[in-house]
Amino acid sequence: MRCLLIEDDEMIGESLRAALRRQGFAADWVRDGRAADAVLATERFDAVLLDLGLPHKGGVEVLKTLRARGDATPVLVLTARDATADKVAALDAGADDYLVKPFELDELLARLRAVARRAVGRAQPLLRVADLRLDPATREVSRGEQPLLLSAREFALLQVLMERPGAILSRAQLEDRLYGWGEELESNAISVYVHQLRKKLGDDRIHTVRGVGYYVGEAKSG
Ligand code: CA
Repeated sequence: MRCLLIEDDEMIGESLRAALRRQGFAADWVRDGRAADAVLATERFDAVLLDLGLPHKGGVEVLKTLRARGDATPVLVLTARDATADKVAALDAGADDYLVKPFELDELLARLRAVARRAVGRAQPLLRVADLRLDPATREVSRGEQPLLLSAREFALLQVLMERPGAILSRAQLEDRLYGWGEELESNAISVYVHQLRKKLGDDRIHTVRGVGYYVGEAKSG
């Protein structure tokens, strides 16, 4: 899952980005409203964490610009304690949820999972494809009765594929979902993770469409 953090406070920004990356999110960070506009207009994210008090252009204005383009990316607003007017303005401008600072990381992660889930029209938190199960909250993966131990990247890759069973995702699309700006990326990284996942899941769960990409689900004929 790739998220954009829009936050001008260096300490909050640093610690949030580090925490998100530790959880296997691809997390990018911008520090003002104009930079946020530019990035949101050109790149796709699974969720946005938006501070309201930002230099150059406020968070509510950034949100209005995003929604005016018809962009439905889930937005979780980070707001100061007791700022009811801010919360109302943000929700009315199209925010999906808000969190009051200071907040616990666990709550932020749970709300992020919830807004991302609703954005794809999924009420069920567990991902299931045939006998594969993946729980984004507990980070447990199993095939049938067999629990599987995955690395953070393997887990992130499998989650992206399982969120859209049957959809063929190209290597570039997968890289985009898994890596933030400035993260080291070997050119064959996705192939390597697919190879490792097949060793753990069995080689009949992730399918390759030569020259196009990968998918999970029922094998397509022809
Ligand atoms: Ca701020």
